[in-house]
This record gives sequence, C-alpha cells and structure tokens, in this order.
Amino acid sequence: MPRRPPAKRRDINDLSDLRVGLYCRVSLDKGGTEKSVDDQEAVGRQWVERAGAKLEERHVYRDADRSASRFATKQRENFNRLLGDIEAGELDVVWFWELSRSQRRLDVFARLRDLCREQSVLWVIRDRVYDPTNYADMMTLGMLSVIGENESEMTSLRVLRGKAASAARGRPGGRCPYGYRRVYDPNTRQLVRQEPDIWDGNGRAIEDSPAWIVREIYDRYAAGEGTIAIMRDLNRRGIPAAEGGQWRSASVLKIAKKRAYIAQQVYQGKVLEGVKVLWPPLVDEETFWAVQRILSDPKRTTWRPARARHLLSHLVRCGVCGGPLVAHGAGNRTGTGIYDLACGSKGCVGILEAALDDYVERVVVKWLSDPDVAAELAQGGDSAAAAAARADADRCRVELEEWRQLAEVGEVSAPSFARAEKGLLKRIGEAERLAQEATLPPVLVGNIGPQAKAGWEQLDRAAKRQIITAIADIRLKPSGRGSRGRSRKGPRVPVKDRVEWRWLLGPGSNSDG
Ligand SMILES: [Zn+2]
Repeated sequence: MPRRPPAKRRDINDLSDLRVGLYCRVSLDKGGTEKSVDDQEAVGRQWVERAGAKLEERHVYRDADRSASRFATKQRENFNRLLGDIEAGELDVVWFWELSRSQRRLDVFARLRDLCREQSVLWVIRDRVYDPTNYADMMTLGMLSVIGENESEMTSLRVLRGKAASAARGRPGGRCPYGYRRVYDPNTRQLVRQEPDIWDGNGRAIEDSPAWIVREIYDRYAAGEGTIAIMRDLNRRGIPAAEGGQWRSASVLKIAKKRAYIAQQVYQGKVLEGVKVLWPPLVDEETFWAVQRILSDPKRTTWRPARARHLLSHLVRCGVCGGPLVAHGAGNRTGTGIYDLACGSKGCVGILEAALDDYVERVVVKWLSDPDVAAELAQGGDSAAAAAARADADRCRVELEEWRQLAEVGEVSAPSFARAEKGLLKRIGEAERLAQEATLPPVLVGNIGPQAKAGWEQLDRAAKRQIITAIADIRLKPSGRGSRGRSRKGPRVPVKDRVEWRWLLGPGSNSDG
C-alpha cells in the first residue's frame, strides 16, 4: 500500500473522512470512573459519527483486563496491533477514552507519540483533538502521562495493601497450593473458592489426584518413610510433580511443611494466627504436627507416629511390579471399613485387607516372640558399635567447639579453622551414619522376646507399621489365576502362600524367608 508522505499539519477542525482507530482498554484495578471496554467503544463510535470520520471494524482495538502499567505482565496484543497499523499508514486518527488507559508509561507514551508524529496521526481523547506534531499539545499530554504513571504506582501500592487485607480475611492468595484448585466466576473472574483438587473430568474423586497425593505424602512420613523413598515412588508411578515434571526431594519436603494444608493462612512468610481461612484442610493437625516433629528431628528415631488408617497400605509391595499395595478407598471416611488392598500402580495383585493384616500380624508376632530372634537382636554386638560411633561423634563435636572458641579469640586463623571444621563435620556425619545403622530401631526396644505378643496388642497401628517396616520386606504374589485387585470375594489361594517375606534383621536376615 502506498504510504503518504508525512503531512504537515492537519486541520483539526475538519476530521471528516479520516480513518479512525478506536483504542479501548480497561485495567483490573477498579477506580470510581472506570468505564467498561464496551462503554468506551460506544462513546468512541458516537464520536466517529459526530465527526464524520470513517471506522473499519478491524480498527477497533479492545484490550480488556490488560493493565498498561509496568506492573502488567500480560502482553497487550491489541495495543501492539494498533502500533503496527499506525506504522503501516492505515490510520489518520487514534481515539482514546483517556490517556492513562493507553500509555501510562512514559516510554510507551513517547513511542506512540513519535510514531503518530511520523505518520501525522492525530489523537482524540474523548472529544478533544491533539496533534502530535504540535508542541503545546504534546506538552499537555506528556504531563498528563506523568500523572498517569504516578497513579499507576499508587495503584500497585493499593493492590499490595489489598492483598494483606485479603489475607487477613482468610482469602487464598499467591500461587494456588498443590492439592487445591481455584474456581473462578466466568463472568467477573473473581475467585469463588479454593477446593481440594480430587476430581477427574467426570466429577469423580480419583486416587493419585493432587489432593490425594498430599494426603499420601503426610501419611507416609507419619508411617516412618523417608523423603527419598516417597519421591522415588511418586516418580515411579508417573505422578506429575507439584511444579510439573519429576518430583524432587525438595518438592516433597515443601509439601510436608505447607501450613495451607491445615487451613492456616501464611502471608509474607508469617502465619496469620486466628485467621479463619476460606478453604478446607487436606491434612488433620495431628498428622501434620507429627510429620513436623519427624522432619525437625535430625535423627528421626525417637518419634512415634500419631496414627495410621491402614496397617499395610504402602508398606507391602506388589510381587509382580514391586509397587506399593494401596488400600482401595484410602482416605474415604464414609467407607464401610472393609477395604481391599491392591497394587497401586498396575493393579497386578489384590487381596482382602483384613485377611492380609491378620496373617502378617500373626507372622510378625511369632517372629518377635522367637527366642532366637530376641537373642540375636539383644546380643549387643551392634549396640556396642553404635555406642562407639556415637561417642566418636560426640568427641568430634567437643573438638569442633574448642576450635570455634579459639577462632573467636583469634588464636587460630580463619583458614585453619575452616579446614579443621570441614574435617570434623565429615567425621561427625560418618559416625552418625554408623551409629544409626548399628542401632536397633527404637520401636523394637521392649517389643521383642516373651512379652512381644502382649506388647503388640498394646501398640497402635502406626507403631506396628514402624515395626513391620523395620524388620521385613513383604511382597504379595498374584493368586495364581491373574486375579485383579479389588475383588471382594477374598483370596482364592491361602494368604500364606501368596506372601514373600524377607527379614531385614535377625537370624533370617541374609536369606529369603
Ligand atoms: Zn503391581
């Protein structure tokens, strides 16, 4: 298209037949005088008619909800389209509802002004015509633009204050935590609620949904599992991580510490005490705090978990694929209490939970009561090694403290302290690892030998899980006819013939039991 040579001055009193572009946009910050994009466009069209100018539909540029300030993160597509059309010589006039709607930033203002000057494009702000080649006009607009910029800064301050107030009212803020989803009103785009993300596309609650995974992570920590084991299992099952992609230990830990899951409001790193939040918890407080105790205990050995809903869920593995058996309906509080237990990854094997529980408990109690087991575990050879390792770690700590004091008073140089510290920290770590490996799991203390049966009956399910985890690796084989999990008919083959035991401690610990 032939480009006209830049015109000198236009007669701003006669705008008939000039080609107009209408630029309408509204930002999300709701001021008193805000006009909707539709209203702005209507006013613009009335002006076009009065002036006798020409408007083509493609020259209407509507940017709804695009803030023009430097705090805006979204691209203003239509503003850029407008600039392109001006550059292409398609427009003689640009109409705006008001200046701050279109060019709050000075550099944007300057760019638009230069472009319009170059192409002899007039500006109309509501009814007033400005000529970008006119110095006085541009002075006025430049000043208005500065005012607009200041207003924009004020707006962002207001938004921040608004966020604090919103947090104090218990509204969800910031990024939506993994395990929840946010529901917005399609018309107003206002947040309606934040709810557990447990649904598939058809309104059914599904296992492995983010909300279930959150619960699972807490339950597994509470049952004594470590971060790495949880992370590996989630990755093996192909569950997408909270941030997408593979789980990392940091992302698992982050979930295990998030206060949002017990319905606490955190604003700028601080818990807002006493704020009643507007979303449901995913984790009960007892479990949450039990997990916090575990995570804050560097040795993680003395703690006793709060509770567990299932004895063997996530503890016994599938004899086909090696994945954990999962209680079908875990977390379903309205269930009948008769849960099936099935391979959680592929459904290779399944069993009636009560039958497996009963059998496993009997075998474990028998093992714990076995005099040979008690004798070997109580032998003390390992305990002596553990005690020696702990003593070594303590000595290193004392030595390190002495070095520190010397360094503080300037008796040793910083580099030699750093060298000594590095060596000692390494020795402490090594000694602690040895001590841990050689120590009888604390949960077993007092629960082996003749008192094992009576003791077992006193234990809660979580403690029983800890013991089973510490002493045996248990796998469930298929029933022999490739039965799928979740059958409620019970096992076709005696349970004892379907379970593979590998003892991790005691006399049988080196061979498959
Ligand atoms: Zn399997």
